[in-house]
Amino acid sequence: MDVEGYRRSLSEVMDAAWPVLHADGARAAVLDAVRRLEDDPLFNAGLGSKLQRDGAVRMSAAIMDGRRRRFSGVVNIERVQHPIDVALMLQYEEHRVLAGRHALAFARRNDVPDFDPETEHRRREHEACRVGDTGTVGAVAVDAEGVIWAATSTGGTGYELPGRVSDSATVAGTFATSAAAVSCTGVGEDIVDHAFAA
Ligand code: ASP
Repeated sequence: MDVEGYRRSLSEVMDAAWPVLHADGARAAVLDAVRRLEDDPLFNAGLGSKLQRDGAVRMSAAIMDGRRRRFSGVVNIERVQHPIDVALMLQYEEHRVLAGRHALAFARRNDVPDFDPETEHRRREHEACRVGDTGTVGAVAVDAEGVIWAATSTGGTGYELPGRVSDSATVAGTFATSAAAVSCTGVGEDIVDHAFAA
């Protein structure tokens, strides 16, 4: 595991998201941080997501506004660069969690372009039947007005049954109130059993 690489990337993301927090608040900051982490193939989210057992990349992401207590997310979405963008779009919809091909159709209707998030490294891990290193990403932030947001994005555990639902786009993996916010990483089944973030 490239611990130094993770550290370096995380500190660059923090440095980039910090001015966003000051200029545009907590929602913009968690979005900025998670988008950057989704773009870094070191992490298991967006580009560089792990493959499910059938060899497909299916990603999940969620975002929650602590002040309004509003959760939204996508489950097992394919072929988008930033699942967190789609999760945020759903904040403002009547139905706020979408899965699979319907999540993808919603994304396309909202002009999210096609993107292949598979990397050579993850393909090799999959071919060796390896789960691979963990690396779900998340961010929580509080801004000067006291507004709190949480966001999480993941490619899942790797080599899981096709269609398995991660904790990340549930309130066990991502949760925010007006007092605190939590974004989890770890084995989703354990996180769900303990409703950890909520
Ligand atoms: N929590 C994620 C999941 O179970 C995996 C992870 O955090 O690495 O899908």
